[in-house]
Amino acid sequence: MHVICTAGHVDHGKSTLVEALTGMHPDRLAEEREREMTIDLGFAWLTLPEIGEIGIIDVPGHRDFIGNMLAGVGAVAAALLVVAADEGIMPQTEEHLAILDLLHIENGVVALAKTDLAESPEWVQLVADEVAQRLAGTSLAGARVVPLSALTGEGMPELGQALLECLRAQPGRPDMGKPRLSVDRVFTVAGFGTVVTGTLLEGSLSVGDEVEILPAGHRARIRGLQTHRTSLEMAAPGTRVAINMTGVGKDDLHRGAVVARPGSLQATRRVDVSFRLLSGEHNSIPLRHNEQVKLFVGSAEEMARVRGLSARKLRPGETGWLQLELSRPVAALKGDRFILRRPSPRATVGGGVIVDVHPPRRHRLQDAEVLRRMQTLAQGSPYEILLQALDAGGMLPLREAVAASGLDDAQAREALSRLISAGELLVFGEAALKLTPRGNVLVLNRGRYDLLLRQVRGLLAAHHRANPLRAGMPREELKSRLGLPARAFNALTKHCTGAGDLAESGVSLHLPEHRVEFDDRQKRGVEALLARFWDDAHNTPSRKEAVAAVGEDVLAALLERGTLLAVSPEVLFLAETYAGMEAQIKAQIRAAGSVTVAGVRDLFGTSRKYALALLEHMDQQRTTVRKGDERVLR
Ligand code: GDP
Ligand code: MG
Repeated sequence: MHVICTAGHVDHGKSTLVEALTGMHPDRLAEEREREMTIDLGFAWLTLPEIGEIGIIDVPGHRDFIGNMLAGVGAVAAALLVVAADEGIMPQTEEHLAILDLLHIENGVVALAKTDLAESPEWVQLVADEVAQRLAGTSLAGARVVPLSALTGEGMPELGQALLECLRAQPGRPDMGKPRLSVDRVFTVAGFGTVVTGTLLEGSLSVGDEVEILPAGHRARIRGLQTHRTSLEMAAPGTRVAINMTGVGKDDLHRGAVVARPGSLQATRRVDVSFRLLSGEHNSIPLRHNEQVKLFVGSAEEMARVRGLSARKLRPGETGWLQLELSRPVAALKGDRFILRRPSPRATVGGGVIVDVHPPRRHRLQDAEVLRRMQTLAQGSPYEILLQALDAGGMLPLREAVAASGLDDAQAREALSRLISAGELLVFGEAALKLTPRGNVLVLNRGRYDLLLRQVRGLLAAHHRANPLRAGMPREELKSRLGLPARAFNALTKHCTGAGDLAESGVSLHLPEHRVEFDDRQKRGVEALLARFWDDAHNTPSRKEAVAAVGEDVLAALLERGTLLAVSPEVLFLAETYAGMEAQIKAQIRAAGSVTVAGVRDLFGTSRKYALALLEHMDQQRTTVRKGDERVLR
């Protein structure tokens, strides 16, 4: 699923356009929240052919735009920039465009709205050309400009088509196993309790998950998840979600907080960044050392003091390194994009990317070592580069991960040892021995492993619920459900069973805590049936009779547990009886050289049907082999 975000000058028709596209008016959705018993409101969505549902973020205010844009960066697949045809480009259009550019939003469509108010078609064409020119040199260069009117419906089909084309090229959001959601709204709903909304990034969340709320560090549990008014068991990255949580109150949460897996993120009050100061009509004032600015990162906004690292002041249009000291902690990650605004005169002055979320100390101006370090950090350390290659690749031979990272052997070796000591890398197979960059052992990063394990455990739990009397899910079935190649699947299950996260019995895999338990009625049936097997151990009830006595499921459980053994589709024996008979037949062959069906029949005082089924089973087991009418040991 994709998320798109509207942008553009106030009153240019953003919300009206969203309503025309989706049938939902964004400004009214917030009010509905109070009335409807649903936790997921305030965001509209539409369904496009081939692509499915896409969420649309449309926010009333300008400041909300920046916050929502940032909170969704990485998930926002495209921007829908709205420019009224009668007014053309206005200051806020410029500012939003600058922000989209700073955030590297490269996909988008321009809606040239309100064409019904424009003087003439020539005028509309003039504005369209002006917009296209203005986009050149920004991240949205070349975006389609679609003249339309939400009022008359003119151009609306073309807009749908343009959105489709722009989203079709977008890859799905990979699941990195590290979910985080920047909270953009908090509210309580009668009957539900505390609810937050936001765009989920980099991992999935499931009902029942424990989460941490940063920067405060509160713990909570997910009671419900919704997207587009549908309840979900699991929400995927890149989607708009509403989370209903227990364990926290409305007062513990606020816009700007981050919901993540416990321990996966640490809040920070100091960040090192790469920063570009806007120029032109946006900004003509240099950014000075020690200046107070407002930092927007995720959905958080905090006051920050600027420390210049490359120079005491940056001139408009320049890029440089800064250290920002925040007035209060925020939860962010390396690589997150941010925007800086000036409180007065109020304006967006620039933005960039965080290169270090936990700089060890206060840096001095023009410290060569610090600047070198920033450079390396911005490019990514070997550790990060390898981790990224692992994130993208799933479980793969170490050799391939290293090749994908583009690191040389020495760098890879260093990165490997750090990844392993940080617990970020799992090695499958004859691990430690062959852990060289060219090794063939399979590796997987921790986040992905946790994710796979959760998926496996979820599949097994569902299987156990549906089949309480079965030992577990056959390996083959689980393998195809996960869509893993045999080598990866075998390595994974071996690791999981070794770690006690999964258990194996026969060809089935199950949760270690899963027990096949009969209820009282079933227990009585089993006792009665087994008594019949004991009574005349060699002339046993047929499968049909056994099913009639206890039912298919219970019989399957007895066979799976090994209490009973089926030597043919019809003939069953107690496992003990079978073992005894097998030993006696072997002894007989050793003494006499061979046995016949008639001989076995007489040996156990049973009928030919049983004796034949038994010997054929032993042939199959490769214990005996048939020679004419005789059986000898193999
Ligand atoms: P927003 O601030 O960008 O969300 O703008 P709105 O969607 O709230 O629209 C601002 C005003 O423009 C409202 O009064 C709308 O009714 C009007 N409007 C929006 N789209 C059109 C259009 O296509 N044609 C005309 N004539 N008016 C429109
Ligand atoms: Mg609006």
